[in-house]
This record gives sequence, C-alpha cells and structure tokens, in this order.
Amino acid sequence: MPSPTSALQRTLWVATTNRGKTREFKQLLAKRWIIRDLHAFRRLPEIRETGKTFLANAKIKALAMSGRLPEKLILADDSGLVVPALGGRPGVRSARFSGPKATNEKNRFKLLTLMRLKQGSARKAYFQAVLVLARNGRVIGSKSGRIWGRITTEERGIGGFGYDPIFQPRGFSKTFGELPSTIKKRISHRAQACHKIQHLLSRA
Ligand code: IMP
Repeated sequence: MPSPTSALQRTLWVATTNRGKTREFKQLLAKRWIIRDLHAFRRLPEIRETGKTFLANAKIKALAMSGRLPEKLILADDSGLVVPALGGRPGVRSARFSGPKATNEKNRFKLLTLMRLKQGSARKAYFQAVLVLARNGRVIGSKSGRIWGRITTEERGIGGFGYDPIFQPRGFSKTFGELPSTIKKRISHRAQACHKIQHLLSRA
C-alpha cells in the first residue's frame, strides 16, 4: 500500500525508467520523499550512458535530467552486477549485457551460460550502486553501496528485478528473487547508498 503523503514531503526526481529501481527508491525513501521518475514525461528523454564507470554514468543521468527540470532535486542511480571471474562483466553494461534488444531474461541467461564452468570462489559477484544527487545542472554529491554474494547455477525466485533471481547475497541461502523485499531493502547495494546519501538529501 502506498504510504500517505504529508505536507513535509518533497518531490525527488529519480533519473530512471527502470520500474524496479523506482519501486525500491519508493520503499527506501517514502517517509520523506515523493518519488517520481522519467515515466512522468510524455516523451521519454533519451540519455546515452557513455561513461566507463558507474559514477560517470550516474553523473550523466543526473545532469541530463537536471537540465530538463531546473530547480528540482534529481537523484540518479547507476548500478550493476560485477563478476570478478569474468573480468568485471557485466559491470556498467549490466542493463545491455545481451545486446541492443536486451531483456532481464536474456541478460540472466547469458550470464548463467558464461558461468557454466565456474565453481567455488569463481562464482563470487557483487552488486554496486552509485547515487548522484544534482540540482540546477550541478552535482551536489555522490555515494555508493556494494553487496557481495554469488551467482547461482539456475534461476530461483521471481521477486525483485534484473539479476535478482540468480544473485544469492552472502550469509543467505536464498536469492534476492526469493527473499522478501524487506530483506533486500535492508541490505542491498541501493539501500546502503541511500543510507549514506540521507544527510545530503536532508540538507538539499
Ligand atoms: P542502469 O540503468 O544502467 O544503472 O542498469 C542497471 C542494471 O543493472 C539493471 O538493468 C539490472 O540489470 C542490474 N541491476 C542493478 N541493480 C540491480 C538490482 O538491485 N537487482 C538486480 N539487478 C540489478
């Protein structure tokens, strides 16, 4: 159930079209913020993620949206899954891993296929999220979060989004696709980054 809005709540614009991310930001920040995303625009602005790092891409997204919405507070998230045994792939290309027509299903299938012969510590991976806060075309600050885990050998669960059904966070026997969203909300890369950026948000 959506939380009731209060007079103290302000709007935070999240520079994403990813409904999974928006849902998580609502869960993480709903007490203080009304979350809106790029779907509020009739024509979705095209933002080309040309950076080589999560931080560079998060800045590109934050500044592009800030240009469209002067005075508004903008939050951008660039995130992805990093598998050291695959040289860091899919990394900043997580969303487009399986090509221009990538879907979450195709991306997971490609990753599971590449991981077929990997065993033990070679299945270690982490999710990384970098958040950038901006207003009036200027970056206010950035924070990041990371969670380690392992890539499972098959999909498990239907919760979350993206690579969640094949990512088992360290210390848990279930994937993010199987765990309740309340657990992901507590421990995820995005949750950690959100927690760290709270003080910037409260002063912005
Ligand atoms: P971005 O829009 O370029 O930041 O793409 C991020 C991509 O990384 C998403 O499309 C997912 O494939 C993946 N990703 C990021 N965060 C998560 C998560 O919390 N769960 C599962 N996949 C994620």
